[in-house]
Amino acid sequence: MRKVAIYGKGGIGKSTTTQNTVAGLAESLGRKVMVVGCDPKADSTRLLLGGLAQKTVLDTLREEGEDVELDDIRKMGYGDTWSVESGGPEPGVGCAGRGIITSINMLESLGAYEESEALDYVFYDVLGDVVCGGFAMPIRDGKAEEIYIVCSGEMMAMYAANNICKGIMKYAESGGVRLGGLICNSRNVDNEKEMIEELAKKLGTQMIYFVPRHNDVQRAEINRRTVIEWNPECGQAEHYRNLAKAIDANKMFVVPTPLEIEELEQLLMDYGLMEA
Ligand code: ADP
Ligand code: MG
Repeated sequence: MRKVAIYGKGGIGKSTTTQNTVAGLAESLGRKVMVVGCDPKADSTRLLLGGLAQKTVLDTLREEGEDVELDDIRKMGYGDTWSVESGGPEPGVGCAGRGIITSINMLESLGAYEESEALDYVFYDVLGDVVCGGFAMPIRDGKAEEIYIVCSGEMMAMYAANNICKGIMKYAESGGVRLGGLICNSRNVDNEKEMIEELAKKLGTQMIYFVPRHNDVQRAEINRRTVIEWNPECGQAEHYRNLAKAIDANKMFVVPTPLEIEELEQLLMDYGLMEA
């Protein structure tokens, strides 16, 4: 089973990209996948579940006590994918990272990982640029082994990607976590593809795919579907299939080499986005 975590700045498109890619893995490659949402917003699986509000692990624990069964906390959605939402504390109370730790431990103790030897992948969709202990949890102790960072050509998205690389580098020293690549989720910034390819190169990794920005993503979203389920024939669906194939075939796993802030700014200047 490949253990994948998706990181990136808030709002960059982690949940959208994760679910659409997972739909591609299921639909065109027949892969069996479990998605674990690690964001207190608990919106990591609604496209796969057709909008069904999934009760989070933390809410289930709060309401039903410790006597939880696997089927209380996971639901099957599109393409026979399993969905779990870790949830979070009540707003303003406690550490949001705690939900992730509790959920992964709960899934482990209930046997969600080994029960189905048929699982090809688990995807952790992790709330982004916060590099506190809780959010780093999936990349500690080998919970996740393979990281993809969703970014765009916008400065703050690149800045967050670089910071996440610092976190990966730290945990790679003690564990086996590796960076599998950057997924550019386009914001239609000038020279975006070339710039992210260059950023990837400097980080010692690759841009594994360039996902165009398209309103079909919103159209599918409003229908509570992934693009692949909503309109399998459209161009955007084909992009998500290609991204799924690229991840499935990926062999490039590295310990990233984060940039100094000056280098990052230089990159933005070289591609014409900042005044020298
Ligand atoms: P995150 O999980 O990183 O916070 P989301 O996946 O929720 O971000 O994405 C935020 C919004 O961006 C979504 O509501 C979605 O409609 C939009 N979005 C993401 N990717 C694309 C894309 N390639 N084209 C158009 N809209 C997109
Ligand atoms: Mg999200």
